[in-house]
Amino acid sequence: MGAPRLEIDLDKIYHNAHELVVRCAKKGISVSAVTKATLGSVEIAATLLQAGVNELADSRIENIESMRHTPIDRLTKEASMLLIRSPMLSQAAQVVMYADTSCNTEIAVIKKLSVEAQRQGRIHQILLMVELGDLREGIMPEDLLAIVREVLGLPHILLKGIGTNLACRSGVSPDSTNMAELSRLADSVEAKFDLRLDVISGGNSANLHWALSGKGTKIGRVNNLRLGEAILLGCETLKSQPIEGLHTDAITLVAEVIESKLKPTKPTGNIAQTAFGDAAPVMDRGSIRQSILAIGRQDVDCCGLRPPVGIKILGSSSDHLMVESSIDDLFVGQEIKFHINYSALLRAMTSPFVSKEFM
Ligand SMILES: *Cc1c(COP(=O)(O)O)cnc(C)c1O
Repeated sequence: MGAPRLEIDLDKIYHNAHELVVRCAKKGISVSAVTKATLGSVEIAATLLQAGVNELADSRIENIESMRHTPIDRLTKEASMLLIRSPMLSQAAQVVMYADTSCNTEIAVIKKLSVEAQRQGRIHQILLMVELGDLREGIMPEDLLAIVREVLGLPHILLKGIGTNLACRSGVSPDSTNMAELSRLADSVEAKFDLRLDVISGGNSANLHWALSGKGTKIGRVNNLRLGEAILLGCETLKSQPIEGLHTDAITLVAEVIESKLKPTKPTGNIAQTAFGDAAPVMDRGSIRQSILAIGRQDVDCCGLRPPVGIKILGSSSDHLMVESSIDDLFVGQEIKFHINYSALLRAMTSPFVSKEFM
């Protein structure tokens, strides 16, 4: 297959997902596998389901629709699908059509979902997301009971549970304090309205440290996590550390060398700004072995690439990645394999210029 390409090792993804499902199950926590970085790949979706995840979760209804439309087997056909970004009012009909459950914070949206669900003869399930400090989505805790009251009055909406999301916008770490607060909120909703919430969704990959480290952690009412990066890249997200026993190279990126020359390190001429406003190189280190790979910012977040030993990334533009090789001369046509972070994965997966090879 041509370059650039993502090499996707489904066995390694299976291993990561299964391992996390098992570890979380020991704490009474189910795993919703977040597929938003995979552009609705049915191959990956099927692998995740085979590995035992509870449901598939995606931020885009378009991805959920495509996973629904191309089922590989019974598992993908019948999988429960969760929309994890608050639905747009303008997409309420698709959300009800393709997602079993959606995460919500706005009563206007939930009312529209109810109307659409009635029109389609369905019941739509929701999780109410609560703000616990990270300042992205979420109902302020003091407003939760009032919103629950309104939700319970909507005929075609089923309140499946509550959830929260930390460590995304502000890097707020999930800990015993904010997780206890989520449990307390679940208890108060149940006590006030005499009902049972099925799902208390504590967060994302950043919650694993809290959930799995140490025997003493009080999990409280949390019984679900939505995991993306930890499964796909085997990485913990608070400090970007590899998770023990998981593969960090389940998905790698391969790019091809299109130029390889001995070049000076210091540019010549009057220096203005670069194509992307970065600083131009200024240090004079003499001549180096500089190579260009046919991949750029259209294809990948170049800051999220980790090259093999002996190769250093010097810079990038829309279509070019400049590297320095300290060991061997790279030759034209040579393929170089990179480890990638989540940001690089997201962009490469969604770029039409990067092919996807499943191993
Ligand atoms: C992206 C996202 C997740 C998954 O995050 P990871 O860090 O990839 O585990 C979970 N929940 C919500 C609401 C998200 O937006």
